[in-house]
Amino acid sequence: MAETAKPQMAAKRYIYAWGGGRADGNGGMKDLLGGKGAGLAEMTNAGLPTPPGFTITTEACNDYFAAGKKLPAGLWDDVLAAVKVVERQTGKGFGDAKNPLLVSVRSGAKFSMPGMMDTVLNLGLNETTLQGLVVFTGNERFGWDAYRRFISMFGRIVLNVPPRLSKDKDGKEVEYNRFDEALDAAKATHGKDAKDTDLNVADLKKLVATYKKIVKDQMGRAFPDDPNEQLDLAIKAVFASWFGKRANDYRNSQKIAHDLGTAVNVVTMVFGNMGDDSGTGVAFTRNPNTGEKVLFGEYLVNAQGEDVVAGIRTPSPIAALAQDMPKAYAEFKKIAEKLEKHYRDVQDLEFTIERGRLYMLQTRSAKRTADAAVRIAIDMVSEKLITKEEAVARIEPAQVDQLLRDQFDRDARKAAKRVAKGLNASPGAAVGKVVFSADAAVAAVEKGQKVVLVREETSPDDFHGMAVAQGILTAKGGATSHAAVVARQIGKPCVSGCAELEVNYSTKSATANGVTIKEGDFVSLDGSTGEVFLGALPTVPARFEDQKDLQKILEWADKIRRLMIWTNADKPEEAAQARSYGAQGIGLCRTEHMFREGPRLAIVRSAILVANAATRAKAKLAAGEKLTAQEKSEVKQFDAAMAKLEALQQGDFEGILTAMSGLPVVIRLIDPPLHEFLPNLDDQLVKVTKAGSRATAKDLELLATIKSMHEQNPMLGLRGCRLGLMIPDFVKIQTRAILNAAVAVKKAKKDPRPEIMIPLVGHVNELKATQALLEAEAASVLKAAGVKIDYKFGTMIEIPRACWVADEIAEYAQFFSFGTNDLTQMTFGYSRDDAEGGFLLKYVEEKILPYNPFQTLDPVVVKEMDMAVKLGRKTRPDLKVGICGEHGGDPVSIGFCDQIGLNYVSCSPFRVPVARLAAAQAALTSAAERDK
Ligand code: PEP
Ligand code: MG
Repeated sequence: MAETAKPQMAAKRYIYAWGGGRADGNGGMKDLLGGKGAGLAEMTNAGLPTPPGFTITTEACNDYFAAGKKLPAGLWDDVLAAVKVVERQTGKGFGDAKNPLLVSVRSGAKFSMPGMMDTVLNLGLNETTLQGLVVFTGNERFGWDAYRRFISMFGRIVLNVPPRLSKDKDGKEVEYNRFDEALDAAKATHGKDAKDTDLNVADLKKLVATYKKIVKDQMGRAFPDDPNEQLDLAIKAVFASWFGKRANDYRNSQKIAHDLGTAVNVVTMVFGNMGDDSGTGVAFTRNPNTGEKVLFGEYLVNAQGEDVVAGIRTPSPIAALAQDMPKAYAEFKKIAEKLEKHYRDVQDLEFTIERGRLYMLQTRSAKRTADAAVRIAIDMVSEKLITKEEAVARIEPAQVDQLLRDQFDRDARKAAKRVAKGLNASPGAAVGKVVFSADAAVAAVEKGQKVVLVREETSPDDFHGMAVAQGILTAKGGATSHAAVVARQIGKPCVSGCAELEVNYSTKSATANGVTIKEGDFVSLDGSTGEVFLGALPTVPARFEDQKDLQKILEWADKIRRLMIWTNADKPEEAAQARSYGAQGIGLCRTEHMFREGPRLAIVRSAILVANAATRAKAKLAAGEKLTAQEKSEVKQFDAAMAKLEALQQGDFEGILTAMSGLPVVIRLIDPPLHEFLPNLDDQLVKVTKAGSRATAKDLELLATIKSMHEQNPMLGLRGCRLGLMIPDFVKIQTRAILNAAVAVKKAKKDPRPEIMIPLVGHVNELKATQALLEAEAASVLKAAGVKIDYKFGTMIEIPRACWVADEIAEYAQFFSFGTNDLTQMTFGYSRDDAEGGFLLKYVEEKILPYNPFQTLDPVVVKEMDMAVKLGRKTRPDLKVGICGEHGGDPVSIGFCDQIGLNYVSCSPFRVPVARLAAAQAALTSAAERDK
């Protein structure tokens, strides 16, 4: 046990201390201590040099809010007792005039939220303790500099000193930090390009007086001198920053729960700005952009932590530390290796060197690009640091998406005008119109534009703009600056530290190498090379075949997953593409998609115009009645059009069955309402009305047909299997086209495996009647061809009623495929055509629904599916069941599909790699659950 504050005065244990080589907590306590607190405890336990301190738990934060922003009873006494322990461990006194203990008060949530919450440094300083600091360090300038930094940070973050509001030249309100303005004014007395370091003791003393006056004028109170009051206010301010705008926006974008709360870490200050034998930096144990196994990071000599992250001074690469401070570098390198081995993952480290002595301030799993994630996972398996299963579990499905993202067309890129080059901070190709503020980015994106956010440097206040931009370009800041870290995390291309770029916010323009870029101009960023091009360069899809590392991870995933991955494809090219991505079958071929292409639509329309009349006439004929001349001509027109369609469809199916030779291909019979193939009723009405007496007979006939087919609720109308039962020729020609295609493919020595699927079945009799029609047709085709085709017959389950009678349906169906687009629509009663453009997204925003159920399966829909699987397999134990709704490519939904025992998920070709990974991760989760 570390020497902790005792007795515990609060009802719960809210405080965990570390120091003197021991800690109360450990690395596994992120829920309670946050990532930073758990990391500090773990590092202390591992014998690494950490400055003593203590963590106030996330539970305390939640209790604080639950009690109406009051510290839980007893907590403050515990804090004071914990401070006493730190005093003993450091030999310093909090508020002591001779040897003052100064602390930082740092936020730290369970999930890392870089820069989104608040931190206060140098706390404990006042005019008295300052004297002690000056004597202790022998450096008056250092003392006053620390004090002015403290007042401005505390004033802005804790006291909430408001910014000065002023209008820019466009009349837009802009905020100016009053402390920064005073600092700039002080620097200006030393010339135009003066730096912070040019300020002397007299300047700093004056600045402190100015800062205090700002606080007095703005807040109507003196700056607090009492260290205990400072600490009390700072703890509350860090709690409050959990619900700050930046933190809220970030949690929304990263899907982090809002009720986790933040811990507060009170840590003894160590100073990186005590001269040239001091410094501070951040480093990764491997390169987070490429995954290369080298220490990667930056540091600044004679600086405090925020100077590195804020990108205010351009830091030196970590390798240079080997020359500047060889002893500290060697120790740091050793610690970095130790921590990576200990956590078995790449670490993101923060350190400070105070007069040659190294202190570790933070360790956490590093955010990394998709490229780096796969490379690191593979390398760590070869190094025997992790297993293949762990490697697969560590790749995020979104990272697979990123790897398959578009890249710039090579030729276009060669010909393009390169205006600048910066650091390749986060890879990928981004094209968009330039905007110079986060708000402008959001406004432009709301208007449907794509933007690139250009800033001198970014701060956490820019997050909302970064989240909607295609890419981010900054003039300042290194590879670990805010822009770089956040862009990597949210998967956006980023070029940072582009020194050639001069940004001018007031004229909303930037210049680089003599070229001026104005707001609204297109630029293209290559985050992989750091290049910035003028104009919108064309992009091409990433080549899966070139992604060897990704392929290796997916091969490992294939060995782990239980679910098969099929694809939704309507054309041979799509089928071939999906197969190259690893698809093991086609789960949905929507035959009607082929109806819309080129001259086909005219043929389809010609059939539809007379479809009902011809069907009635054929029924008359079958009953032995005679047809009128008009009826005969309608039958002729219909049959001619349907024959053409049959031939065209047969060609399509031959292509698909050939591309998928040896693999199952589920072909669904026509599904949408027929009016979808005709012009819109309103448009046709306007056309005919405008033409008046000059309207053609053809247009009038078309209008009459459209009207006769009009339905109030087409989604619930004549579609799916209902259509085939009303106009049986659709079932007949499609069955013939499928089986004749299979015969032709088989004759060409390929292995066609067609499965015919009936959509929108709600009652078993619908399936029974369709099957009778279909089998008669199939038998005659196969008999005529003299070829055996082992086709399957099955149905979609996409109406809630079908889930309830799945046992009856399985008497006839050899397979089920869940159409979860319709099943969601009909379970919620939300129109899938309208809801997302209307109330549904608002529902999600206002948390009436936790998420959009058309993207991720709703648990009740999953229950329906589970019931249908169980009922179906009761009748037919070997029933094959899959999903072909959009959810089939959603990683979370894939997890549900694995749990309820589906055989496969089917998704669009580009989602196949993601689905391979997600299915393996689902299997790993299920295995872990079973082992519990
Ligand atoms: C479904 O409803 O989920 C489905 C795949 O069919 P469609 O989207 O074509 O209605
Ligand atoms: Mg459907």
